[in-house]
Amino acid sequence: MTGDGSTAGSSGSTAGDGRDATREDDPDLPPEAATAPPRVVSAGHINWDVTMHVDRLPAADGETRIERLEQSGGGSAANVAVGLVDLGGQSVVYGSVGGDESGALTLRGLANEGVDPGQVLIDADEPTSVKYVIVDADGELMMLANDGANESFTAGELDRGVLEAADHVHLTSQRPETAAALATAAGEVSATRSFDPGRRVGDREYDAAIHASDVLFLNEREAATLANTSKVDPWEPDDRIVAITLGANGATIRTPNGDVSHPGFDVDPVDTTGAGDAFAAGALAASLREPEVVGEDGFSTDPRDFQVPLLVGNACGALAARAVTARVDLSWDRVRGVMGDSPEADLLIEIRT
Ligand code: ADP
Repeated sequence: MTGDGSTAGSSGSTAGDGRDATREDDPDLPPEAATAPPRVVSAGHINWDVTMHVDRLPAADGETRIERLEQSGGGSAANVAVGLVDLGGQSVVYGSVGGDESGALTLRGLANEGVDPGQVLIDADEPTSVKYVIVDADGELMMLANDGANESFTAGELDRGVLEAADHVHLTSQRPETAAALATAAGEVSATRSFDPGRRVGDREYDAAIHASDVLFLNEREAATLANTSKVDPWEPDDRIVAITLGANGATIRTPNGDVSHPGFDVDPVDTTGAGDAFAAGALAASLREPEVVGEDGFSTDPRDFQVPLLVGNACGALAARAVTARVDLSWDRVRGVMGDSPEADLLIEIRT
């Protein structure tokens, strides 16, 4: 923990600098904000998700009845791209799918959601990556997936004009050299960068991509892995922002000058897959159109500026946790609805500077 542990938000306000970020007092909680919608390139996995709900996960040699079966587009890059559009942004998704029916369905779904899939590489030699998720009544998961085409893309195939038009590039799990090259290219055109390396953070060489990113998104397990396998201390970052999600316990956003934490919103979880993607979409949507959070010089390093992104991220994560599929419908109304169910939520924000 950094600092002196000050300001537990007893009045829901910040540490006395006048920049109160409580809901009632925040005229900038989108979509009222007058700023232009942020343009984001979201690059990484684009999958087709098949989610099966069962009473109990099957044992070896066992058989389990599927109570409910859902299919939808998935993959972290696609999920975040859709979430950002839902929250008023403009998204180009970058990645690759196979030349099969699942790939076509995935691309059509993205276009229907308002995401620009025009940059997606179609690799005719590979199947689209399909992820089968089995969820039991307690929310325990079992996942089966093929890699397929989802890492066929490289940084060089992304249209330079598209990159130049972007305000921000969000990277999710992908080949390390692709992530590093995209983050570097984004920096060259002055787009800000975030990276959610995902559960393979410990066994892939992501150092270059991490160092070229302004913001990291990690869950608690990934943060522990990164702390053990790299020189980055995600809990005490000295040169970037790190958002660490804590499942049902909310999230903490760590900056070089302290941190801001919030215990999350109380929902009955159905399927928490995609909760991290929804958190990232919400936190980015709330950050990118707020000049105090992302200004001319990039991301703020003042933890007080991240209160609204943190609350919005937690609200979006909660919406995803109570949704049946990994891809959840986000909207500012739904975000406000979750926050409105816990009017005391602002009081639970804790800031340490
Ligand atoms: P990941 O899906 O990447 O493992 P988490 O499980 O930490 O990420 O969840 C991401 C965010 O989703 C959390 O920070 C929290 O805001 C929200 N969330 C996840 N699970 C729950 C839950 N059971 N109840 C409320 N919010 C949740």
